Amino acid sequence: MKNLNDSYHSYYNSFFSHIYVEKSVINHPRTKQLMEKFPEAEIIEIDHYKDVFCRSRQYTAGQHRAQQLILAAKKNNFIYEGAPVCQSFGNDYFYYTSCMMNCVFDCEYCYLKGMYPSGNVVIFVNLEDFFAQVEKILEKHEVYLCVSYDTDLMAVENIAGYTEEWVDFAKRHSGLKIEIRTKSANKSFISRIDAAENVIYAFTLSPQPVIESFEHRTAPLKSRLECAALAISRKMKVRLAFDPMIYCKDWREAYREMFEQVCESIDFDSLLDVSVGTFRVSAEYLKKMKKQEPYSPAVQFPFENDSGFYHYPRELMLEMENEMVSLLKQKIPENKIFLWEN
Ligand code: SF4
Repeated sequence: MKNLNDSYHSYYNSFFSHIYVEKSVINHPRTKQLMEKFPEAEIIEIDHYKDVFCRSRQYTAGQHRAQQLILAAKKNNFIYEGAPVCQSFGNDYFYYTSCMMNCVFDCEYCYLKGMYPSGNVVIFVNLEDFFAQVEKILEKHEVYLCVSYDTDLMAVENIAGYTEEWVDFAKRHSGLKIEIRTKSANKSFISRIDAAENVIYAFTLSPQPVIESFEHRTAPLKSRLECAALAISRKMKVRLAFDPMIYCKDWREAYREMFEQVCESIDFDSLLDVSVGTFRVSAEYLKKMKKQEPYSPAVQFPFENDSGFYHYPRELMLEMENEMVSLLKQKIPENKIFLWEN
């Protein structure tokens, strides 16, 4: 009998069977490199990525199971100021960038299903324009930039190589600090790349039952921990993100068990910091997510609305966050624990 993961793997075969390419970037070197990775794909030339990506009434959750690829040029808004639902980790100039839209992983609770009209993946090939915009801001002040945002860049490193490009760019710009967040476990990348003072690798961790139920196609907890431990051993700056914490049956035991596994694999003294926060999302996105995932307990939960943002009922939210923080306090100083404050 097939299990859920088997069916996801068979969907994987049809991934990127069609590549939509904006005519203006058909000869861009990154377009060519990306297309070479999928020699069997049917190439369809388009005028603008929005012609495909922004069509109305797309079933984004279904598209996630057989994603197609769109290659395009971003024309403006290369860098955004940090969103209110995100941690700035004490950095004054917090920005994020989306050189790719959507993710090849498929977390049921992912806000992208509420944010984007499509489940297909857009990769912007004009990375040089993103770099130029960062350089412009760096002329004024330092920059803390989340580069794996509205996506998981490491998950597609083997086809796009963008994480490495961002790391190389950061190494050449001392005023820049980047965060690369992932639910992957790309050990070959971590083994190959040299550590840099201004590059933070953030591994999002969840209990294995949460991963199996809700974080489809992501790496198992054990592999994420092995990868984080490898990064630490290679003197990289490593952050562990217990964020978002997801409610599940026996959540307390699940998170305690996860924490034991973390303690067995990770040298806490070598960690940069950790972050903690329960699931939260804007009311606008949640409305769409509920439509896309009508059978997912992760999004059909009776959340509480707080000034336009939904979160778990306050008592449960605090109980979950306090539990995680008190576990972490046994291993890491409090000033290295960043708790999402609602
Ligand atoms: S890894 Fe992150 S961006 Fe990707 S589907 Fe999961 S929550 Fe969304």
